[in-house]
Amino acid sequence: MKFDVVIIGGGLAGLTCGISLQRKGRRCAIVSAGQSALHFSSGYFDFLDRTADGKAVENPLDAVSALPEGHPYRKIGVEDLERYMGEVKPLFAGCGIELKGDWSRNCYRITPVGGVCPSWLCLGEFTPFTTAQAEVGRNVMVVNIPGYMDFNARFVAAGLEKRGAACRIVDVTVDELSGLRANPSEMRSSNIARLMDSGHVAVRFAEAVRMKLSGEDAVVLPAVFGLKDSSVPQKVAEIIGVRTEYVATMTPSVPGIRTQMRLRAAFERLGGTYILGDTVMPSEIRDGRVVCLSTVNFGNEKLYADAFVLAAGSFFSNGLAASRECVTEPVFGLDVHAADDRSKWGDMDFFKRQEYIGFGVKSDADFHAVKDGVSVSNLYVAGSVAGGYNPIAEGSGAGTAIMSAMSVAEHIISKIG
Ligand SMILES: Cc1cc2nc3c(=O)[nH]c(=O)nc-3n(C[C@H](O)[C@H](O)[C@H](O)COP(=O)(O)OP(=O)(O)OC[C@H]3O[C@@H](n4cnc5c(N)ncnc54)[C@H](O)[C@@H]3O)c2cc1C
Repeated sequence: MKFDVVIIGGGLAGLTCGISLQRKGRRCAIVSAGQSALHFSSGYFDFLDRTADGKAVENPLDAVSALPEGHPYRKIGVEDLERYMGEVKPLFAGCGIELKGDWSRNCYRITPVGGVCPSWLCLGEFTPFTTAQAEVGRNVMVVNIPGYMDFNARFVAAGLEKRGAACRIVDVTVDELSGLRANPSEMRSSNIARLMDSGHVAVRFAEAVRMKLSGEDAVVLPAVFGLKDSSVPQKVAEIIGVRTEYVATMTPSVPGIRTQMRLRAAFERLGGTYILGDTVMPSEIRDGRVVCLSTVNFGNEKLYADAFVLAAGSFFSNGLAASRECVTEPVFGLDVHAADDRSKWGDMDFFKRQEYIGFGVKSDADFHAVKDGVSVSNLYVAGSVAGGYNPIAEGSGAGTAIMSAMSVAEHIISKIG
């Protein structure tokens, strides 16, 4: 099979790259082994939350020049970054995904423990607070869904109370959820959301929340609404009738899964081929180029293309692999940024900066992958498989995925026409 571009990995980076290429008329295939990090997303997209010394960043573009030279943002450059940042909301809107927030400034978000931390843009049901003093309300009703363990109402209430709100936790449920409650492993956010998607259940739930109000000016709910129908969270808020804030739950992430599904649908609508549940096998680089890829399911049928993009994610998605001795990139055996000294990989203090999070594939200024010190002329790297930055320490996961994907798409178009 022959395509213009074959992309390995169908998460945020692979899909953003594929959509950008399809929109410019290139024929792409995405091969994706499984779920992406979006299934675990908070619903907020980070661009650059913190400086190297841990200070909250207000204007992300202003902080780019202080990043190390090999950082993806430094490769892209401030001018192109600014252009891409301005294109993100329309790009996602074209895929049926509402992103809120001002792309040129960071916002703040309420965390699952009721604290506040910086972020960039957020999915439609969330609020991009403009200050760190973000107030959900003075008297807040935090809703607990009995039997649902992946949202801790007590943590949320305790966090909000620390910041001056008076909180009351109430249990709210509806008969339709009792089937899920019979088995604790079924009481998951995605299953709840599936039931809530059939409108009358969400209406009954929202009415039950409203009945419990006792003078509160705000309600906090777990983000378990709108798996397919993104209008459900808004409808629920309207019925409740007071300010309603959604807070991210433990995984799976309902807003994240919806985003993944919509990006994929948009890619396919544009004519892209999305091959889910297949894995690209170790593949050869010959004379500085990739000629074709083999996958587990296609066997002897090879995937040919003019350009290839590695968007296979980090350790979490098997885009990188670690043994006791070394870190490797499993498909092409590419060069990897990683500390040789094993003791430098991580810190036993879980909350400190973990160096291994910054490990990743080496790439040149145009995001060509590097093997044995030489750039591979038609293989590009996008998203969290790339090295040179630490997305957790600096808070830049979604931003680097989207920006590098958009940049790679442009490099490919300028090269293959
Ligand atoms: C648990 C978790 C939660 C996160 N939450 C947030 C958040 O809330 N906000 C934020 O800004 N950032 C978050 N991040 C950072 C996140 O890495 C980026 O936001 C971004 O989603 C990464 O996208 P990606 O496409 O690079 O990789 P991924 O989403 O990891 O996708 C890589 C894909 O490649 C596939 N793949 C791997 N190897 C192969 C192969 N050989 N053949 C075929 N397919 C393959 C995988 O199955 C996977 O589907 C989170 C990261 C993790 C791990």
